[in-house]
Amino acid sequence: MNDLYTIKVNCPHCGKAFETFKVRYRRSVPYKIDSDFCPYYKEGDSNPHFYYAKVCPDCGFAFTDEFSENFPLGTKELINAKITAGWRKKEFGQARDVEKAIESLKLAIYSATLKKEKHSVLGGLCLRLAWIYRTANRQESQEEEERFLKLALQEYEEAYLHSDFKGTSLSELNVLFLIGELSRRLGQFSKAISYFSKIAEHPRRYEEAKILDRARKQWKITAEQNREQREHDSKA
Ligand SMILES: [Zn+2]
Repeated sequence: MNDLYTIKVNCPHCGKAFETFKVRYRRSVPYKIDSDFCPYYKEGDSNPHFYYAKVCPDCGFAFTDEFSENFPLGTKELINAKITAGWRKKEFGQARDVEKAIESLKLAIYSATLKKEKHSVLGGLCLRLAWIYRTANRQESQEEEERFLKLALQEYEEAYLHSDFKGTSLSELNVLFLIGELSRRLGQFSKAISYFSKIAEHPRRYEEAKILDRARKQWKITAEQNREQREHDSKA
């Protein structure tokens, strides 16, 4: 457990201080990373995404470092009514198993929705939840993974449409890549190709050469999948 350490944070909703775990990145290195950046960790190593969402034990509000500081008018009252009023003091500050990680991310998705957080922030939460289902390998995993990949895709499309990723850790090319790759994973091949091609024509493509390279690779894979799909459909 020495890859975990405690940090103290203040709840942005009720203001109370509480402690929560964080993972030392240098101690926890994934042995594999998927094309949509989903990391895999060896048993015994902590997954930082399990601790991504901080949950206030007092009021139930869940948040991440990506949340903005301000609460739009009326959202505090809404959070009080929808979350805090029914909240029974619950602890998320210890080591989290898959269940706790899933619960914390779902609470953060709900909190972010009520708070009207940026689409890019919601997309990041849904994508992480999909990753946890993918790597958890449980019975309902595949269905739940797909459900949250779809939600992440919707949020990233909105984020791109409204440029609301500005001021976050994501660049426009990151968002375009995620839309392309999530579309591909969900079998929406023509959409995936159109987004990968946006990257290939983007004025900033050479400044973010790694993404350009990734996009080209995934574009090729998608074109192949698209061709196979068409052959399959024409035979049916
Ligand atoms: Zn709180």
